[in-house]
Amino acid sequence: MHWADVVASKVTGKQVVSTAISPSGEIHVGNMREVLTGEIVSRALRKAGIAVKFYYEADDIDPLRKVPNGIDQSFSKFVGQPLYKIPSPDGKHTSWSNQFIDPFVETLNLVGAKPEFLYTHELYEKGLFNDLIKKAIENREKISSILSEVSGKEIKGEYYPLNVICENCGRIDKTIVKSIEWPYAEYHCEACDYVGKRDVRNGGAKLPWRVEWPAKWVILGVTIEPFGKDHATAGGSYDTGKRIAKEVFGIDPPTPVVYEWIHLKGMGAMHSSKGILIRAIDMVKMVPPEVLRFLIAKNNPERHIEIDAGRGLISLVNEYDQYERIYFKKEPPFDPEKEEDYRRIYELSQISDVQEKIPVQVPYNHIINLVQIKKDINEIMEALRWSGYDLSGNLESLKKRIEAAKFWLENFAPDEFKITIKENPPNIKLDENEKNFLREVLNGYSKGLNPDDINKMIHDACSKTVGDQKKCFSTLYRIILGTDTGPRVGFLMTSLDHDFVATRIKFFIEN
Ligand SMILES: [Zn+2]
Repeated sequence: MHWADVVASKVTGKQVVSTAISPSGEIHVGNMREVLTGEIVSRALRKAGIAVKFYYEADDIDPLRKVPNGIDQSFSKFVGQPLYKIPSPDGKHTSWSNQFIDPFVETLNLVGAKPEFLYTHELYEKGLFNDLIKKAIENREKISSILSEVSGKEIKGEYYPLNVICENCGRIDKTIVKSIEWPYAEYHCEACDYVGKRDVRNGGAKLPWRVEWPAKWVILGVTIEPFGKDHATAGGSYDTGKRIAKEVFGIDPPTPVVYEWIHLKGMGAMHSSKGILIRAIDMVKMVPPEVLRFLIAKNNPERHIEIDAGRGLISLVNEYDQYERIYFKKEPPFDPEKEEDYRRIYELSQISDVQEKIPVQVPYNHIINLVQIKKDINEIMEALRWSGYDLSGNLESLKKRIEAAKFWLENFAPDEFKITIKENPPNIKLDENEKNFLREVLNGYSKGLNPDDINKMIHDACSKTVGDQKKCFSTLYRIILGTDTGPRVGFLMTSLDHDFVATRIKFFIEN
């Protein structure tokens, strides 16, 4: 059974799935796993006939801890203030947090995840936390002992589970509550030395994270929550949250879906030197959206995922295509006993419903060459039609792949995948042996061959003449691209106009 169906099989009644983020900087691809895990679980619940609500909370009342790389350090004056109150660094959004949340909303749309977005500061301002803040204060000793028992952290002095926003300097991370006369808190700000008294309801203060998390479970009625393994460690915030939920707020904690990290492999030096991770929005533009879902759906949340933005990306797309052929019974499953699993993974990878017939499959390598050789999408479609692809069905996913391939080539692809066709024959001389090889190639190079046929034909032509396969491929790259290496020759030659290639080969036989 698929992991998401396992989660769905363990619950009954209406479910509320919740995911959240503290939007203090660029939202990277690791955060995608959380939302997509929530989205896939929600879909599994719906399939099981269970009503489900799916939330995504931007914890934008959290303080800014530090100014991330790439943002003007003058913003350091806002450190310690709630994210929603800080201006957006690029000046184009309503707040610091919205600068990072806004593109993420767009990202989620692209992968077919449509949670209801909530802004935690609004939940405070609407008063939804008021009763829970009161309860937390009344139970402050109990909370203090849960925190020290479970997390092992010693709490010194009077403990008030409350972070007040300083009315003088705006910081939320440096105020110490001295006393409370509900609903007023007397506090001292250690940053600006201000002493004040303010109403802690309706956004005047927030609960600390370990208390706020279970409070959100109460407010939203959360029953299932995916979260990263950092929160799941022994003594971590889920452990304390569970007890606070039960012993202070009187509710059962949600079923956890703990996920492992996503690691990056094959990143170009350009990015690692700048210390930039792949932003979620870039990932969605670089990987066809159903393939990104496939990556998350295929791997059990407990398994860590390695994302390879280089060559591995092509293998991933090819693997998705294989699952697609299995789903549509065009290819036998690699393990017949797991056929149902493969089918389910494919279903959950779709942005919406599975199409009635198999979408046109063009090998990704081929698309990568075409987008570099052809001027625009019309030319690409023309070339595909010419090579015998049936383009009569739904072409949405093919078009998305073409877009993704372009974006990948411009931003992330290793050089080995980049090609420039020499419009005029490069200035090189071939020996007689190489010319014989080209004569054989020209003989066998008829229109309508597929990439595999072409590779075999070239292999045979080489065996009869030069003998050294590597040298033969290199000869072809040199006369077409002007380089010693290139993409797989079969794909390259089917991407190019047949007459163009034939004329080029003739030129080198004759000169
Ligand atoms: Zn202050």
